[in-house]
Amino acid sequence: MAFGNAKATAAILYDFGPKILKERFQYGQTKADSQSRLDYLPQTTNPTDPHFMGRALDIVLVAWKPNERAYADALVSLFVRMQSEMHLEAIIYNKVEYNAVGSPSPRIASSTMTAKQKYDYEHTSHIHIQWFDHQKDLSDFAESLVYELQNDSVIQA
Ligand SMILES: [Zn+2]
Repeated sequence: MAFGNAKATAAILYDFGPKILKERFQYGQTKADSQSRLDYLPQTTNPTDPHFMGRALDIVLVAWKPNERAYADALVSLFVRMQSEMHLEAIIYNKVEYNAVGSPSPRIASSTMTAKQKYDYEHTSHIHIQWFDHQKDLSDFAESLVYELQNDSVIQA
C-alpha cells in the first residue's frame, strides 16, 4: 500500500510545520502512553476507511488547549486556502467539516452517540485531511505547501 500524499504531507509538516508537531502527544501518564502527532498509518483494517486506503492524515492538535488550537486553526485555514492545489476531498477539525470546494458545515455528534463516538466524530483532538482516491499519490503540491508553511506567522511563531 502506498501513502503518497499522506506520507509526503506528514514529512513536510514535520520539517516545516509548527514545532509542536515534532513532540509526541501524551495522552496518558507514562511516556509510553504517547503517540506521534502526524499519523497517516491506519488504525483499522476496514477497507473503506480512508486511512486504510492510504489517503488520509491525522494531525494531533487538541482543540481544548489554546496554544495547540491556534496552530490547528492556522493549519486548517492554510489547507482550505490550498484545498484544490492539494487535491483535498475533506478537512475536518473541531466540529467543522470543509468539503471538496472548501465550504464549511457543522459536524456535531448526535445525541444517540456514545461519548467515544461523539469524540471521534467531532474531531476535537486532531485535524483529519483526506484526498480523493485517484489523486492520493500526486504530491505535486509539496513546494507550495513548504512555502505557505514558511510564510505563516502563526505556524512559525
Ligand atoms: Zn483521520
